[in-house]
Amino acid sequence: MARIVGMDVLDVRFPTSRELDGSDAMNPDPDYSAAYVVLRTDDGPDGYGLAFTIGRGNEVQAAGIHALEHLVVGRSIPDTAAELAALSAALVGDSQLRWLGPEKGVAHMAIGAVVNAAWDLAARRAGRPLWSFLAEMSPEEIVGLVDFRYLTDALTETEALDILRAAEPGRAERAAHLRAAGYRAYSTSAGWLGYSDEKLVRLAKQAVADGFDMIKLKVGASIEDDVRRMRLAREAVGDEIRIAVDANQRWDVGPAVEWMRALAPYDPYWIEEPTSPDDVLGHRAVADAVRPIRVATGEHVANRVIFKQLLQAGAIDVLQLDAARVGGVNENVAILLLAAKFGVPVCPHAGGVGLCELVRHLSMFDYVAVSGTDEDRAIEWVDHLHEHFTDPAVVRGGRYLAPTEPGFSARIRDESLARYAFPDGPEWRNGLL
Ligand SMILES: [Mg+2]
Repeated sequence: MARIVGMDVLDVRFPTSRELDGSDAMNPDPDYSAAYVVLRTDDGPDGYGLAFTIGRGNEVQAAGIHALEHLVVGRSIPDTAAELAALSAALVGDSQLRWLGPEKGVAHMAIGAVVNAAWDLAARRAGRPLWSFLAEMSPEEIVGLVDFRYLTDALTETEALDILRAAEPGRAERAAHLRAAGYRAYSTSAGWLGYSDEKLVRLAKQAVADGFDMIKLKVGASIEDDVRRMRLAREAVGDEIRIAVDANQRWDVGPAVEWMRALAPYDPYWIEEPTSPDDVLGHRAVADAVRPIRVATGEHVANRVIFKQLLQAGAIDVLQLDAARVGGVNENVAILLLAAKFGVPVCPHAGGVGLCELVRHLSMFDYVAVSGTDEDRAIEWVDHLHEHFTDPAVVRGGRYLAPTEPGFSARIRDESLARYAFPDGPEWRNGLL
C-alpha cells in the first residue's frame, strides 16, 4: 500500500512590500509568504499545500504544520472521499493541538495546509484537477466529507444531501461550460492603498479594457482620500462597472457606516471586512445601516461556525471563503453548503500567494455540484506571483480559465522555492532586507 513517507515544510517569502503591492489600511507593508508543505510518498506523485501569511510569523505557521507530522507520516495515502474525511478528522481531532484553537488561527491554518496537500495528492493520483475530482463525487460522498458538529442547527446532513441532489442534473453541462468559458473574475490589482491616484486611474481603466466588469479598491485610512479615490475610479470606469471597496477590518461599526454613507454617491457594490471578522452582530449592524450596499467578509473568518453565525444573523450578503484560512477542502465544502442553504453568493478571497491558484477549484466545484449557479459570483483576481507556480491561474477576458492539470495547483516551482527561501535564499541574503 502506498504511504506518505515524509513531510517537508518550507518558509518561502516574496518581498512584495518593496512596491507596496498588497498594501491596505491594516497591512501597509506585506511580504506575501507561504508556509509550504510537501507530502512525500513512496509511490507516484507527491502532494503540495500551503498556508498564506504576509511575512513575519511565517516561521510560526511553518512550526504549526510541523506539529502535525505524527498524524501524517506513515499513513497510507488517502485516495477516496472517506479516507480524506478520516485524515481531516484526525487532524482536527488531535486533542492536544486542539487546545491551541479550537479550529482557529495558526493551528487551524496548519491543518488547512496539510488537508489541502492531501487533496492535491489524491487529485494528482486520480489524474484530475481538484474541481472536477470533487464535482464527480456522489452527493453521499460529498456530505461524508463534512464535519457537521456545530452546524446542525443551521444545516443538517439531510438538507446538505438535498442541496447536492438538486444540483445533480446539469453537472455535465456546467462542467462543459466552465471548460469552454471559464468563471467570472474581478480585479483588485488597481486599488491598493499605497498606489498613487495616477496609477489607480490607469490600472482601473486597464482592468475594464482587459474585460473585467468589476474592480475593488482598498479603503479605510482617510475618508477624504477614499472619497477622492472612489470618485476618480468611478469617473475612470463609468457607471456600468461594479466597484467594491475593502476596509480590511479597519473600522468600528460607527465609522463603517459613516464612511459608507460618504462613498454611497459613487455606488459601491460591496463593503468588505468593514470591522472585526469575529463580530457577527457588528456586521449585521453595518449591513442594516448601509443596504443596498452589500456587506462581504470571509478571508479572516476562522471556521465554519463563524460563517454559520454570519449567515444565521443575516449579517453578510456575500460570503468570501478562503482556500487557506480554514481547515482545508473539507471545511470549505461545509461552508459552500451553508452558503447554498442560505442563498448567499460565494465570491472567494484570492490574491496573496497561491490563493488564486487554489480557490478557483472551489468556485468551480460549487458551480458544478453545489449551488449550480454562477449568478452574482466572481473570484477575486490579483495579477501577482503566478509565475512561481507550476499550474498558474490564468484569467482571460475577465474570466478564470478552468484548470486542466491534475491536482490542486499549489505546487511552487523548485527554482522559486530556492530563490525565495527565508532567510537563506539569495533574494533575502543579498542585502535587500
Ligand atoms: Mg479583502
